[in-house]
Parts: sequence; C-alpha cells; structure tokens
Amino acid sequence: MKTGLIQVPDGEKIIFKEGIIQTPDHPIIGFIEGDGTGPDIWKASKHLFDSAVEFCYGDKRKIAWMELYAGEKANKLANTYLPEETLEKIREYQIAVKGPLTTPIGGGFRSLNVTLRQMLDLFACVRPVRYFPGVPSPVKNPEDINVVIFRENTEDVYAGFEFPTRSEQAKKIIDFCKKEFGWNIKPDSGIGIKPISETGSKRLIRSAIQYALAHGRNSVTLVHKGNIMKYTEGAFLNWGYELVREEFADSAVCWNDCNGNPGNKLLVKDTIADIFLQQILTRPREFDVVATMNLNGDYISDAIAAQVGGIGIAPGANINYENGYAIFEATHGTAPKYANLDKVNPSSLILSGVMMFEYIGWNEVVDVIIRALTKTYQDRIVTYDFARLTTGAQEVKCSEFAGAVVARFSNNS
Ligand code: NAP
Repeated sequence: MKTGLIQVPDGEKIIFKEGIIQTPDHPIIGFIEGDGTGPDIWKASKHLFDSAVEFCYGDKRKIAWMELYAGEKANKLANTYLPEETLEKIREYQIAVKGPLTTPIGGGFRSLNVTLRQMLDLFACVRPVRYFPGVPSPVKNPEDINVVIFRENTEDVYAGFEFPTRSEQAKKIIDFCKKEFGWNIKPDSGIGIKPISETGSKRLIRSAIQYALAHGRNSVTLVHKGNIMKYTEGAFLNWGYELVREEFADSAVCWNDCNGNPGNKLLVKDTIADIFLQQILTRPREFDVVATMNLNGDYISDAIAAQVGGIGIAPGANINYENGYAIFEATHGTAPKYANLDKVNPSSLILSGVMMFEYIGWNEVVDVIIRALTKTYQDRIVTYDFARLTTGAQEVKCSEFAGAVVARFSNNS
C-alpha cells in the first residue's frame, strides 16, 4: 500500500557497490522509533548518536534522519502495520535503525520483525556479545565473553511452513509420508517443515568468515545438531567446511585439515549445540565468531547475552551482506508497561547504533561511544534494571543515562 507518509530529508544516499559501503558526509538513514518504550529509547539514542557525530567531526558530517513507519504508529497513520513505502525506502537508502515493535494480534502478520527480515531477505542476524565492566552479570568471569553470533534468519523451522493439527493440509502430508516413505506420524500431529539449503547456509557462513577475517578474529565455530538432524543441520556443517576449502583456502582452514593448529589462518571448527551451551559458560574464551541456523541462533543469542547483562544491553543487526541492506535494532521487545516513563535501558539500541556506525565506516564515533559507555557503567550510573542488581549504583532515567554517556565523550571527564 502506498501511503506517502515518509518525508525524505536533505542529504545523500549511502551506496553499496561491489561489496563496499560508500558513505557520504550527510547520509540519509532511516529510523523506525518502535512501539511501547521504543520512542523513549529512540529519543535518548538519537541525541547520543548526533552528539557523538558532532563531537568527532564537527560540522563536516551529520546524519539526515528519515522517519520510517511500522507497527502501531503506522497503523494509526496509515491503517497498515507495515506500509510498502517503508520497505521501498529501506531498499532505496540501504540501512535503517529500529526500535522494538509490538507483534500485532490478528493484524495479518506472524511478527513484524520476522516479516521485515524475510521481505528484505536480511539473511544474517548478527549479535555481538561482550562485557562492559560495571554491568551486573550472573557469571564469575563475564570479561571472558567476546563473541559475535551469526544466526541464519530466513530458513529452518522459522520459515513459516506450518500446518495445525488435524488440518486438511497436515492430514495430506501425514498420508503422503505414510504412503511414500512408510513413516508413521501420529494423526493428531501439527506439521512444520525445516528447510536448510546449501545457498542459505553458505551465504551465512561466508559472511561469518569474511567478518572474522576483516575483524582479526581467530576462529569461526559452526554450531549444529547434525548428529541427529543429518540432512539439515549436518548438511549445514558439511557445506560450511566445503566452503572453507573452496573459497577461503588462502585465509582459513578447517579443524580436521590442521588438527586444530591453523598457523596464521582463521580456524573454522564446529560443535554440537548442547555441548556449545555448556562450553560457552565454562570455557568462553574458546569461542570467537559463531555461525548457526535460525532456531539454535535464537536460543544461543539470548542465553549468551544473559551472561553479560541481558536483553537491556544486547545489540543486534539484520544484514544482507550481498546487497548491503541492513537494519540495526534493539533486541528486546516493547516492554509496554514502561512506555513513556523514560525509564528503560537504552543500551541495546545505543549499541545497535554502534554496529551501524561500524558498518558505515565511521569508526571514530564507534570508539567515542564505546569508551564513554564503558566509563558510565564503571561510574555505576545505570537505569532501573541494572540498579536493582548493583549495590551503590546511581539510578537514572533513560534520557539521563544517554546524557551521562554524552558527558563522558571527552577523554578528560
Ligand atoms: P520485552 O518487551 O522484551 O519485555 C520483557 C521484560 O524485559 C520487561 O518487562 C523488562 O523486564 C525487560 N526489558 C525489556 N526491555 C528492556 C530495556 N530496554 N531495559 C530494561 N529492561 C528491559 O518482552 P515481551 O513483554 O515478551 O514482549 C512485548 C512485545 O514486544 C510483544 O508484542 C513482543 O512480540 C514484542 N517483541 C518485539 C521484539 C522486537 O521488536 N525485536 C523482540 C521481542 C519482543 P522487567 O519487567 O523485569 O523490568
């Protein structure tokens, strides 16, 4: 549906050419403020982003923010939760930052977030997980965790191929499986299909390896349940190793091809998902970049984020590394009970913005924000969620937290 809601500000387009992002000095970047607490965290984060750009570049560079509509605000203004125009503008301008969106009940969408990822084919969900001193953590050595998770975003049991129990379609599939393969599936079963493709697996693993090489990381671990699901998760693993031998022979090596001694190459290894969830707790230093499928990735991302402070601080991005489209987003939900109270932690959206600045190559901004955020946590200035877990902390509002980070941009503060 065309809505004509979006006002394009003065500025220039970001260009993606031959795998490289070219960022002008006044790039137009889309934002979706989100539902519930979204407007609060967006307002605080935008102030911080603009202040950081000004601190680093003065008048030379500035982001021209373009509001894009999705969720409840879009529904109110245009009677649709996801206007086609929003998707068009993300395709035209390459990237957007997004707050959380309510999953509409009965709005024709399974989830707006999943729909956005699928319609833009944002195949990699990238979740860096690192520790900031001062942040409350349930583990003894949270500083040992520094991993980047690449979760495949478009396939697996999340692809949406499902039929309810006793439906005509489920019955047809059950009958077909009995007749053709002799499989006995209980007649009152719901049916879901788990597609894992060679192209889908290879493009995700390729992106993880390229990221690891570009960021000087030591290893990529493929996390799977290939011992049980041989032709889906097992195939993901085999395609990953095949890819290393075919495309990265000069720069990466599989564990089995080097007995775990990669020399100066990137090591690509694998582990079974259940063991991985133990080892990331007991030996986190052994993991660096992780590549996995959709369902494993969903569990793993949140489980590891909990070790370094949880969803209030976990950033994320959904990226198609082949055409450059990217959405950087807070990973938590809308936390509706705190809406408009200026209360919740904006760190997840702030750190998603940091990922965006890294993506567009404005690394000075990345350094300034990370340094100031670290200092703010060390000074025990925190929002309510961390205040209840930290003794001697100064509890501040969402906007005040962002203000405290901005006040620490300068090295001397
Ligand atoms: P939620 O919004 O993430 O909130 C669950 C709890 O997590 C909150 O009550 C709060 O805990 C804590 N929390 C969330 N964000 C926080 C923040 N910024 N700072 C501090 N604490 C925070 O999950 P939900 O209640 O299950 O979902 C609400 C809506 O969000 C649903 O419509 C869901 O579909 C949607 N959702 C959207 C996204 C997305 O847009 N990416 C992701 C997940 C869920 P306490 O109450 O203990 O303080």
